[in-house]
This record gives sequence, structure tokens and C-alpha cells, in this order.
Amino acid sequence: MAAATDTRLQNLLGMDRGELEQLARGAHEPAYRGRQLYRGLYAGRVKDLAQLTVLAKKFREHLARHAAIRWPAIERAFPSQDGSTRYLLSLEDGEKVEAVSMPWKARTTFCISSQAGCAVDCKFCFTGLLGLRRNLTAGEMVGQVLALIDAGKIDGRLNIVLMGMGEPLLNYQQVIKAVGILADREGLAIPSRRITISTAGIVPRIFDLAREPVRPRLAVSLNASSEEQRSALMPINRKYPLSVLMEACREYPLGPRERLTFEYVLLSGVNDSDADAARVAHLVRGLSAKINLIPYNAGPGLPYIRISRGQDVMGACGQLSFDGMNQRPA
Ligand code: SF4
Repeated sequence: MAAATDTRLQNLLGMDRGELEQLARGAHEPAYRGRQLYRGLYAGRVKDLAQLTVLAKKFREHLARHAAIRWPAIERAFPSQDGSTRYLLSLEDGEKVEAVSMPWKARTTFCISSQAGCAVDCKFCFTGLLGLRRNLTAGEMVGQVLALIDAGKIDGRLNIVLMGMGEPLLNYQQVIKAVGILADREGLAIPSRRITISTAGIVPRIFDLAREPVRPRLAVSLNASSEEQRSALMPINRKYPLSVLMEACREYPLGPRERLTFEYVLLSGVNDSDADAARVAHLVRGLSAKINLIPYNAGPGLPYIRISRGQDVMGACGQLSFDGMNQRPA
């Protein structure tokens, strides 16, 4: 078995600077060797330990005996007519996730997954049909970004949204660790203002996120103008009602030019009346926020499904579930 694919070896991907410094010290090397390894893994996007020639040969040989670098593997790519590409990636244990690359004018946005499947069960979302299979590690989230950078040309600046499969705030520690590596200047150096966490509204974790030293942008999947309507579309609203969610949003600290994003899937005859618009305007009054209206169409197996970019390859928001690829898990 090739070293890089030997899953008995510790995967270095996802380890932060402190962990790699500790690893170096454990191998009787100075801590700065760990920092070199960190820069090579993330800033250098190195896939093979042999490429890390900056490291002392003895340390490289030690690493090769105990560790490897394993990125998620792109199994299939589905290019869309609108320029976006949906990717099916397989993880070390064979679990599958999806990520989407969306070039648009002078920027490219990667939408990555934070969980395999999702337990939140929003009624307009294909991923919700899978249920939660497992949380992803920080390395598997950072690895999606590395794999997508490697797979395609990045036009202009890069934005990351954690809006693929899963509810990021239900995998909080690993998501925060991944954001730290993505945003770190010696990591992937993607500014935290270009990283967005999209949540269905896990209120206690929104308060936690507000206190993080490296804080990404926050997007809230709103989709309704009243408690009753939201509970019908998003059962999580019964646990964290709209009133409590909006309170958390009001307390969320924003930088001078920072705005919250509220995503709102327009479902004909359900949440798109003039009265809904007036209620939403009332909900967000006084907040520095923008509302992202997302048109919809009917989809198989669900009462509602959103459309947005990448729709022809099932890469739009709420469509990530392997459907249409004969890859749906049993
Ligand atoms: S919309 Fe997001 S939170 Fe809701 S079921 Fe889908 S993946 Fe989960």
C-alpha cells in the first residue's frame, strides 16, 4: 500500500500549527520544524511529504514512517452550463461529501460541506433526506478547499461558504479549527471576512461564534416570516424559535462594514406574499443585514427545492445529496 493511502498512518491534514510543533518536538526536532510543516501543508498545498524538502531529511524520514498527507479524493466533477462545477469527494472511510466551485465575475466561491448528511431536516433540502452520517474533521473541510483549488482555475479572489452538506454549528469545534487554518496567514490565507458560516439557527453556537477571535461572516437561513411558518419548513425552529434567533442576531457583533446575511428561499404560495415581505422587513429592522432571496422550483422527493447557480448539475443550495449520480447512500 502506498504511504499516502495507508490509513494506518496519521493524516497530517487538519493539524494546526500548535499540534505540528508538538509533533516536531516529539520527534526531537525544534518547534520551528512544525511551523515549516504547517506552511508546507497549507500555504504550499503540498500533497506528498517527499516534496517538503525544506524539512531536515531525518525529520522527513521520521514523518514518512508515522504520518501521511491525505486529501479528500475528487471522484467525479459535474460542470454546469453556468460555469460552476459540483464535485463528489470521497473521504478516508469511504464517506462521500459534495462541494461546489462557483466562479462569478472577479471572484470564485467554494461551497463546502461540514457534515456528511445532516440531522436538521429542513423541508426544502435534499441533504436533510440523508440524515446525519457523521461530522467532518477540520482536515476534511480544509481538504475540500485544497482539492477544489487543485482541480480548477481560481478567477480572482476566493470566498468560502460553509453551506454545503451539513449544519456547521452542529460541528462547532472542527469548523472553528478549519476556519482558523483557512484564515491563517501561514495557512491558506483566506481572510475571515471572505469565509461565511451559514446556519439554520443553532442559537447557543451563534453566541459562541460571536466570541471567537477569528470570526467568519454569519449567514442565517431564515426562509419564513413567522414562527408557525418557520417551524413547518425548518423543524429546528421548535427548538430555537425565530424570536430567540433574531435576538441572537441582534447581539451578534459586526465590524464597521460587516452585515449579516439572511437567506430566504421563496416558496410560491408558502412564504412569498406581500404580508411575508412586510413581516421579514419588521424582523430585520435596525439590523445591518442583507437578504438573499433564492428562487425555487419543485424537485423530486421534496415538497420544495431551491434553485440557484449550478442547478443543472444539482449543485445549488439545498441540492447536495448525491442524487442524480446513483451514489445515494443505502
Ligand atoms: S438546509 Fe442545511 S441545515 Fe437544513 S437540512 Fe439542509 S444541510 Fe441541513
